Amino acid sequence: MAAPDAIECWQDLALGCSIEKPGNSCDFQTGDWRTGQKPVTDREECIKCGLCYILCPDAAYAPADEEGYHDWLDFYCKGCGICAAECPKDAIAMVEEVAS
Ligand code: SF4
Ligand code: SF4
Repeated sequence: MAAPDAIECWQDLALGCSIEKPGNSCDFQTGDWRTGQKPVTDREECIKCGLCYILCPDAAYAPADEEGYHDWLDFYCKGCGICAAECPKDAIAMVEEVAS
């Protein structure tokens, strides 16, 4: 996914830094802030409960696909590890990320 032009210079912001465009958090590539680890799901263990999708604070899992799995979204994941900690089947492992 290409990074949108979400960052604005402070001189361009509205007085009081009020938000003029609802839903603009979708534009921010919070995955850029991730350092070290990313979650990887073992689909053999996943029971499609959706907890990772519900509990992720950054909406970094997509809604269930036609098979019931939730795809991980690199663009938003900050690598906090909540999904791995809360998965009832331990189907998510936090793995070291190799810098590209
Ligand atoms: S929390 Fe675990 S078992 Fe539930 S959908 Fe996510 S990966 Fe699958
Ligand atoms: S590591 Fe954190 S931000 Fe990334 S998908 Fe899991 S819960 Fe969401």
